[in-house]
Amino acid sequence: MYNNYITMSPENNLSSLESIVKPLLEAASTTHWRNSLNVLYLSGHVMAFSEELQFPCIISARGPYDEVESASDLLKGKTEVAITKIGKDSLPIIMPVITSLLKQEELRTALEEDREEKLVKIFIDLYSSQFQKMQDEFFQIFISGASTIADWITPELYENLLEMREKMIRSAFYDDEYEEMVDSLLKLNLIKPRLQINLCPRCADYQITLTKTATILENCPNCGVEWASVTLFTFIHPYNEIKKNNSDLPLFISSYLKHKIVTLYPAKELEIFPMAKVSLEDGTIFDIDVYIPEYDMGFECKVFEDAYARMTSSRINSLVGGLLPQIHRYFDAGIQKVFIVTNLVESSSNKVERLLKRKLSESGYPSEVELLAKDYDKLLKWLDEKAQLITNQRAKLFTKSLEIKNGPEKLE
Ligand SMILES: [Zn+2]
Repeated sequence: MYNNYITMSPENNLSSLESIVKPLLEAASTTHWRNSLNVLYLSGHVMAFSEELQFPCIISARGPYDEVESASDLLKGKTEVAITKIGKDSLPIIMPVITSLLKQEELRTALEEDREEKLVKIFIDLYSSQFQKMQDEFFQIFISGASTIADWITPELYENLLEMREKMIRSAFYDDEYEEMVDSLLKLNLIKPRLQINLCPRCADYQITLTKTATILENCPNCGVEWASVTLFTFIHPYNEIKKNNSDLPLFISSYLKHKIVTLYPAKELEIFPMAKVSLEDGTIFDIDVYIPEYDMGFECKVFEDAYARMTSSRINSLVGGLLPQIHRYFDAGIQKVFIVTNLVESSSNKVERLLKRKLSESGYPSEVELLAKDYDKLLKWLDEKAQLITNQRAKLFTKSLEIKNGPEKLE
């Protein structure tokens, strides 16, 4: 059924997972929400909450979020004074305070619903090292009132979340496109808020909310100044699962192509396999991110963790070195057109494409590869072209088959 080189067992057809990216497919045909497609270019690994907690999250910051240094300094100062007083006790006493502080009940409900029990570890993971160091002092804080612990936690947590946000933006974004993407993802119900910290840059008043809806209160109730707020979002299930290993991009491409081809030419559905696991004659098994057997087309999706890093020649070499073995396998498998979708900026993608083509022809491989940079508008246009090309060929074949059946004169 496929070409002579490849076999693929039916249980490896993962097309059913395409329904998970349906909101993005719908957004692709809008003007205002299509910037949500930027999420496809964000590496699940960069979005992981921590090394141990590999669930992807998004951090949004609003208001004067980068002007709270003095407020956070004040809160920390207050805590410093409290913890220099004597006091001894241990972590077991502190932890219940922390958990009640963070409204454990709400947290538990949120977790049960999404089976993200790991979220509970968020706070513990973030702060346990500090707790260990300061356990004696914490008893004093404990008896002098939980608010002091909140005073201490708030700026720490706030800064941590901002740092995570910075990391994501640096990996593949310009500042404003990131926040626009967050807005659209929220409207599409692909993410939901979990935790919000509002901090007043003037009087250092604050709110920590475990929330399922982003807070509407925009100003500090104490002095009326605009809050600086940072919100932690997680992806809904099962999108969170496919985001972890960047499977959302291949699923989006395969579902978009299917949708487009059916719209252009509603004949028999064309087989397009996302994340196809195929085997070669020699027993090699490998993944083709998107595979169209009938047209010997293969799409490779590469979402780099540091797409915006400077393109030195050694970096280009290492990117190409990483891509080559996989592209060789595509050609070994009899695929004749290889398309590589990346999250690189255009100038970087051009450099990588040039070197990749040169290396391919030097090693006796065809150089029929196209590399696409991070730009969802171009990606859609490009996929439209592929769909059109396939449709034209299908229509031609169909006409030919009619001619054979009926004889050309009957078509006149
Ligand atoms: Zn205030």
